[in-house]
Amino acid sequence: MERIWAPWRMSYISNTEHEDGCIFCLAWESSDDQEKLVLVRRQHSLIMLNRYPYTCGHLMVAPVRHTAEMNDLDDDQVLDLIKGVRQACDLLRKVAHPGGINIGMNLGKAAGAGVEEHLHIHVVPRWNGDTNFMTVTGSVRVIPEGLMESYARLAEVLRTDKP
Ligand SMILES: [Zn+2]
Repeated sequence: MERIWAPWRMSYISNTEHEDGCIFCLAWESSDDQEKLVLVRRQHSLIMLNRYPYTCGHLMVAPVRHTAEMNDLDDDQVLDLIKGVRQACDLLRKVAHPGGINIGMNLGKAAGAGVEEHLHIHVVPRWNGDTNFMTVTGSVRVIPEGLMESYARLAEVLRTDKP
């Protein structure tokens, strides 16, 4: 199994216990999309950048409804969530031209969920050789562009060319 080595995620793991509230609910309720890294507000879901990404452009799609259970979502909410995943993929293809995209959910702490109380789907752009590169370079910073720069590029595409 290939693993992406992402040391900056350690700060995420060690910080989450001290944060108040749910990052998805806080993002939805916030009026500052840039500060919360929110890219798209849909009817029942939102698309945001992951502050602690596995790769550059790592997005998350979450239902507006705060729940850990997929069965709590009604059909409209499930459909909007999946459409959000599709929109996130379209956006990444336009901005980052990845060779592939990983889409996945971690349900429960044992499965690796960082935020287990609010469902979210990871949409992670991938490029050929990105894990090899990261394994070899070890401590070298993997993300070649800053988080806010990624946000600005994605937001610009959304402004000019609605996917
Ligand atoms: Zn929440």
